[in-house]
Amino acid sequence: MDLKGKNVFVTGGVQGIGQAIAYNLTKAGANVFLNYIGNVNTEEVLATHKDNEGKCFISQGDVTNTDDCARNVEEAIEKLGSLDALVNNAGITKDNLFMRMTQAEWDQVLSVNLTGVYNMTKQAIRYFVKAKKGSIVNIGSIVGSSGNPGQVNYSSTKAALIGFSKSLAQELGSRNIRCNVVAPGFIRTAMTDKLNEEQKKALLSKIPMRRMGEAEDIANSVMFLISDVSQYISGTVLHVNGAMY
Ligand code: NAP
Repeated sequence: MDLKGKNVFVTGGVQGIGQAIAYNLTKAGANVFLNYIGNVNTEEVLATHKDNEGKCFISQGDVTNTDDCARNVEEAIEKLGSLDALVNNAGITKDNLFMRMTQAEWDQVLSVNLTGVYNMTKQAIRYFVKAKKGSIVNIGSIVGSSGNPGQVNYSSTKAALIGFSKSLAQELGSRNIRCNVVAPGFIRTAMTDKLNEEQKKALLSKIPMRRMGEAEDIANSVMFLISDVSQYISGTVLHVNGAMY
């Protein structure tokens, strides 16, 4: 896919699915700006993009912090010159059965997975409105539609992203701004590495395609929704889950 000249912000774009999205974007000629929260060797991240056509920029920033979001988006505009797309990828899990779930586990997951998307979108949207174009891709999850025991907090946030995206798509359609959800099934990343062998076996038996997805499967779907090929697609949920849901 040719995405030459597209400028894209990817939250949490330094590992797992976000890293695959960012890498495939620069490979396709797009320029990316990434943020992250933890201890990241930024030189190492930049090195992975160095042979690709698109440029990569990176800055620390917490999506739950409105000042960080404002600063990150300003930095992105400064480095990239403009912004064509925002990929709200950053997300966390704090799994627990509901009866045992703590207020902190509930609050933290809502704060990153839902308020984080609100914070970043609020900043980016100002530029999209001015430019009269933009594509927002929110990374949801299969469990936002199917539910999952032990993930009442997480699946609530991913379900909320569907309402968020459909409503925003309707509000901003007349301004040529699109908003969609990519809902991954179970993808091989640090997040799913936490599952024990028994859990992984049980999971595989429920996936008709009999394998977990790869981060690249999600990256390809995100690139499609950023590209002009999908210019009439907005307010939709693209499920990428090996026929599991
Ligand atoms: P991951 O490997 O744990 O990566 C999550 C990324 O989010 C990391 O780069 C992390 O930054 C960043 N992040 C977390 N909290 C943040 C914050 N407050 N501010 C900024 N960045 C923050 O997870 P993943 O599996 O790639 O998941 C990526 C997205 O896909 C998430 O939204 C997740 O819910 C969704 N998803 C994943 C799966 C799956 O099977 N893996 C399935 C469905 C949906 P640091 O690197 O600095 O820690």
